[in-house]
Parts: sequence; C-alpha cells; structure tokens
Amino acid sequence: MNLAVLGATGSIGASTLDVAAAHPDRYRLFALTAHASADALLELCRVHRPKYAVLSGVPGNAALAASFRDLHVELLFGAAALEQVASDADCEAVMAGIVGAAGLASTLAAARAGKRVLLANKEALVMAGPLVMRAARESGAKLLPVDSEHNAVFQCLSDVKAVRRIMLTASGGPFRALALDKLDAVTPDQACAHPNWVMGRKISVDSATMMNKGLEVIEARWLFDVEAGRIEVVIHPQSIVHSLVEYVDGSVIAQLSNPDMRVRDRHALAYPERIASGARPLDLAAMKSLSFERPDHQRFPCLPLAYAALRAGGTAPAALNAANEVAVEAFLAGRLPFTAIPRVIEATLNAVSNSDSMSLESIMEVDATARRKASERIQMARAA
Ligand code: NAD
Ligand code: MG
Repeated sequence: MNLAVLGATGSIGASTLDVAAAHPDRYRLFALTAHASADALLELCRVHRPKYAVLSGVPGNAALAASFRDLHVELLFGAAALEQVASDADCEAVMAGIVGAAGLASTLAAARAGKRVLLANKEALVMAGPLVMRAARESGAKLLPVDSEHNAVFQCLSDVKAVRRIMLTASGGPFRALALDKLDAVTPDQACAHPNWVMGRKISVDSATMMNKGLEVIEARWLFDVEAGRIEVVIHPQSIVHSLVEYVDGSVIAQLSNPDMRVRDRHALAYPERIASGARPLDLAAMKSLSFERPDHQRFPCLPLAYAALRAGGTAPAALNAANEVAVEAFLAGRLPFTAIPRVIEATLNAVSNSDSMSLESIMEVDATARRKASERIQMARAA
C-alpha cells in the first residue's frame, strides 16, 4: 500500500514510520511531510526513501531541493503540496498526522479523493466534521481512527442504531489530583509530562486541560454519527480501558490494552487484518485496580466549553478549536497562565458569531477571526 505520512516528523509520524519500516512488504512510503524542519525530514527520507517530501512552511529553495534529489526524492514546498500528495492518484493511504487546524485542508483532500484516511488530526473533524464525513461518503474514502479512544470505539461498534451511549475514557492528565490553587502556576514542562503517553506538546497541554477530551467528544460525534447527549466522558487514570460502547440491551463492550500507541496504530494501518504490535500483553491479575471517576468541571472547564460549542453547532467548534490553539501556544511560550486557557476560549466563543455555513472557506474565515479575538484577549490580559 502506498502511504503518505503527513506530519512525518511528529510523534504520530514517528510511530507510523515504525510500523511501515517493520512491514516493508505491506507499506511503501509515497510521501513524507514536515512543516519547517528540513534536516529532520531529510534524515527520514534517507531511511524511508519516499517518492515525495513536502516542506509545507518553507518557500521554494533550490539548494534544499538538490539535497533531496540526491536521495531520488522530489521535494515540494508550501501548504498546497500537502493536498497535492494527499490526493495523488498513486497514493492509497494517508496518515493525517499534522497537528491542529493546519491539518484540515489535506485531511479533507484525502477524504475527497477517496483515500484510506488514518485519522490522527482530530482538529479536522472538530472544525469541519460534517464536511469531512460527507466528502468521505461521496468518494468512498475509508476513515480509520488513530485516536486511541475512537480506535477503541471503532473496534467495539457493531450496530450503530443500537448504541445507547459512547463512553470515552480520559486519564485526567498530570493535574488530576493537584490542589486547585496550584494550577495557576504550573509550567509548560509540567503540563507536557503526561502520566501514560508521550505525545506532541499541543496535545499534551490539551490532555492537561482536558480540552483534548472535549475535542474527542466532537470528533466522536461526527465519526460515529452519535449526538452529544449520548457521548460521555469518564476519567480512568490507568489508561487501560481505551473507551466503551453501551448498547440498548445494557451490554457494554470495551477495548483494553496497555497504553502503547503501537496497538491502535497497527490496528488502523492493518484493518481489517490484525498484525503483531510488540505491545506488552495485558496482565489483569497483576493490576491492582482499574478505577473510574466523573470529571470535575471546576478543575476542567474546557470540557463543558467543548460540549457547549458542539451543542451550539455550526462553526462554533471551529472557533473553539482556534481559540484553544492560540491559548495553548501562548501558554507554551510562557505568555499565559494555564488557568487562563479556558477563559480565553470562553471569551472568544462569546465574541465570534456563529454561522451555519459549512464550506471550507467559511470555516477558515471563522478560524481566522477566532485567532484574532483570542490573541487580542491574551494581549488585554497581559496588559492588565
Ligand atoms: P507533533 O507536534 O508531535 O507533530 C506535529 C507534526 O505536524 C509535525 O510533523 C509537524 O512538522 C507538523 N506540523 C506542525 N505544524 C504544521 C503546519 N502549520 N503545517 C503543516 N504541518 C505542520 O504532534 P502529534 O502529537 O504527533 O499529533 C499530531 C495529531 O495527532 C494531532 O492532531 C493530535 O491531536 C493527534 N493525536 C496524537 C496522538 C499522539 O499519541 N501523539 C494521539 C491521538 C491523536
Ligand atoms: Mg485520544
């Protein structure tokens, strides 16, 4: 299978390339992309020898292109090249592993072109769920979730009509048990020290605020066509149960494994087959306990904000996502305290008008407006 890995230099990218390298008989690399890290991308091309490489955040550069050409790799520049490789006739599967709104256009292009889309970029469904799902339906694209919870739900789902509830599990992140008055002073490194998973910095902060789970509720709403009222979040600090589906007859089906991203990546890549992942087998008897608790909305105000945006509908989730990206970036840069992240998002949601229009253009317009409002809000907070 010819595979394009969008976001090849990230955490999802690395894990995907591991699978591909372990199964050269199954996967041929068609394209690898990075935003600006030319050296890291060149190194990956040396190992994996794709047909194309893309530097989406770099203008054309002949010297750079020549160093890739030495490896017989054609280097493309600019964001439009992401859509080009994702929809190329020779490309069969696309790992959508770019972080944030920057991944929407290429994910949508892959869905429109009928590819097998390995969906890690949850922000695409948050911003434009109905658009991406319609594109996939019309083209026959197969969307396979790489997000652990959605991958778990996908594995548990047999009869969507008979689903009573989807229960998404959340670890609660690094601050689940921290005294509330200490949250104000947490640092980016503390926020990124996730107890069970090693991931990129943006999703790690999202896990600490639990906006990650909010984004996942919206992702699940579109991916599985189940409305917000039937999607619940439960905290499960051990990250062994990756999510559950309850049916109308009271049966609850869960997917369990040790928290090892190789399990879900192998599943999505090999589906409907199964291949060995190398993950440590689950030893239930050795586990002292599996615990569950309800999320505390005072500690995690981002979660109700995400539900509110989903219920408001239209472009509200796109505004939520944009404000979150801006606030998280400011927090990571030391310009905003952790506890101000939800305040910036709430103020932005109140300041951006909601629209029912679901075109890529109108969504990107709302994204830009929300980014501007969120930045203004952060500047105001700093000036005060
Ligand atoms: P990361 O920060 O490790 O990697 C991000 C990748 O995106 C890099 O290759 C980077 O070059 C590229 N990128 C960044 N900005 C870009 C831009 N403006 N244009 C084009 N490319 C850009 O992130 P990650 O942890 O691998 O997460 C990637 C996506 O997968 C996110 O949407 C995240 O929510 C989702 N996800 C990740 C995990 C995980 O285990 N890491 C789990 C579930 C879902
Ligand atoms: Mg997840």
